[in-house]
Amino acid sequence: MPNIKDLFNQKTLLSFELFPPKTDRGMEKICREGGTLDQLYRLNPDYISCTYHVGGSNVERNMAVLSKIQNDGRTLPVTHFTCIGNTPKTVCGLLQAYLDHGIHHVLALRGDIPLGYEPGKEDLRYATELVDLIRREFGDKFTIAVGGSPEGHIQCRSIQSDIEYLKQKQDLGADYIITQLCWDMDQFKWWYDAIRSAGITLPVDVGVMPVLDSASTINMALSHNACVMPRALCEIISRNWIFPNVFTPEESEEEIRRKKDAFMEEGIQYTISQINEYLSLGVDGIHLFTLNKADAVTRIIKESNLSA
Ligand code: FAD
Repeated sequence: MPNIKDLFNQKTLLSFELFPPKTDRGMEKICREGGTLDQLYRLNPDYISCTYHVGGSNVERNMAVLSKIQNDGRTLPVTHFTCIGNTPKTVCGLLQAYLDHGIHHVLALRGDIPLGYEPGKEDLRYATELVDLIRREFGDKFTIAVGGSPEGHIQCRSIQSDIEYLKQKQDLGADYIITQLCWDMDQFKWWYDAIRSAGITLPVDVGVMPVLDSASTINMALSHNACVMPRALCEIISRNWIFPNVFTPEESEEEIRRKKDAFMEEGIQYTISQINEYLSLGVDGIHLFTLNKADAVTRIIKESNLSA
């Protein structure tokens, strides 16, 4: 059985993230013949990961997508898993179910803290505790990825302390890092040097958020992560502004459609150049958050240096 940890010794990895759709129709779109998964397989990814709602409310669909990937045998399935709100006992039960389905790669996360959340006495609090638990209870049965935040996690005391906790994840047995979206390349370069200076030697698989739609780009940057949008990205949003605006109050639907298309085109080019810059830094992998949009992702991969 191939292992992502070993693949990093052989090449620069390409991987994708999917989210489990909320509806049966959405699931069908992903899983049917010629659907999203089939389109992504054609790009020869080393693995495909599937997100997990904090608290596990979508675990059935998450498992269905991952089992399909496992059964198709075209690439490796990786589950995201969040520990907040769970005791060690429930975590072990949930993780055993993944092993029972042949899924032995996990991205071990804390999860965002839900509003009004009151932690139970035995609940796990941090990803460090999750990594520790997995290694103690399951030994080497799982390959463990952990999240890293090049701009610092939004709740971190300081970026230095955030890096120290990342080092703890390595020391507790994590195998590689998948980074949070980061459009700010200067910040990424600083962080990449800083983690290496801090003794973090794990492979860094860079999470790339494609720029495809202005509302979701702004939402993604600001809703959970408060990440920096560089001037060039702001200019793309500004040139193709589609939101209520006192200066042009009555734009036609046609004009809005034109701007959305123009945004996507410029965004694809922006994403391609970002991937190429990451590759030129010698990162260990590119992990594209696909937003389940296989057509745009196919273009990005084919036109970037990933397919060179
Ligand atoms: P942690 O590493 O636990 O860090 C959380 C905060 O606590 C940080 O500020 C850190 O500095 C601090 N900290 C860490 N350890 C300690 C410690 N031992 N003592 C004190 N402070 C500490 N969320 C989902 O719900 N579902 C998903 O599928 C999902 N996918 C993701 C994929 C990627 C690639 C990434 C990077 C994130 C993803 N997230 C997902 C979001 C993630 O759950 C949130 O960012 C969450 O708020 C933090 O998770 P973490 O594992 O980085 O937390």
